[in-house]
Amino acid sequence: MAEAFRDKATPGEVPQLESGVDHDKPTSEGMTLQVLDQLCVGCSYCLMACKDDALIVEGLCEVIQDNCTDCLRCLLWCPTGALVYA
Ligand code: SF4
Ligand code: SF4
Repeated sequence: MAEAFRDKATPGEVPQLESGVDHDKPTSEGMTLQVLDQLCVGCSYCLMACKDDALIVEGLCEVIQDNCTDCLRCLLWCPTGALVYA
């Protein structure tokens, strides 16, 4: 489902970071992507960014940690700051 949604609705390229790559691999071991429920508005932009089917948005976003590769594309797209890496 996420793949079809992404193909149809991708608003543009994933923004680049200052490093020049399309995402930065986190350097800190033991950190995971987390959702701040109080900031999530269920917009699904993060779903469009994720290429690894590691997110579900049913009202609020949830991370499927087993699928997450820590690429942080979703974090760049979240308009509310609801995704954090900590
Ligand atoms: S960090 Fe990458 S793999 Fe993990 S949920 Fe976000 S976009 Fe998907
Ligand atoms: S992009 Fe951010 S606000 Fe939108 S569903 Fe994902 S986590 Fe929630």
